[in-house]
Amino acid sequence: MAARDPECIFCRIVAGEIPSTVVRETERTLAFRDVNPQAPVHVLVIPRDHYADVGAVAAAEPELLRTLLAECTAVAADEGVAESGYRVVFNTGPQGGQVVPHCHAHVLGGRELGGTLG
Ligand code: 5GP
Ligand code: ZN
Repeated sequence: MAARDPECIFCRIVAGEIPSTVVRETERTLAFRDVNPQAPVHVLVIPRDHYADVGAVAAAEPELLRTLLAECTAVAADEGVAESGYRVVFNTGPQGGQVVPHCHAHVLGGRELGGTLG
């Protein structure tokens, strides 16, 4: 596992080379607002280390996956959508709609999200 991929846009955000609006951070994770929000709350939660997708994190570092999910819950609370409800999405691979190949959870909320499972 490469800790960092110099070509990766999210690795560059972690390194501070691309600006982002950070809402939470831990030693291992970063949460920042999506540049093209699909809902009033749209935050991306990522591991600082480069993993291609959620399955790669789960296989290599289950404790890091637990931290990622805990951070998604914390983002929802911070953003005021824990009670109204929210969605956590890990798009995975091309047909899963994953465009950026660095594991990320979308935390979406603040509107009725409907049955958008594709
Ligand atoms: P995916 O389609 O891979 O699941 O989601 C990638 C997400 O990253 C998209 O929602 C897109 O708007 C977001 N994104 C892409 N580039 C940037 C960026 O440079 N900054 C931020 N904050 N979000 C980005
Ligand atoms: Zn990366």
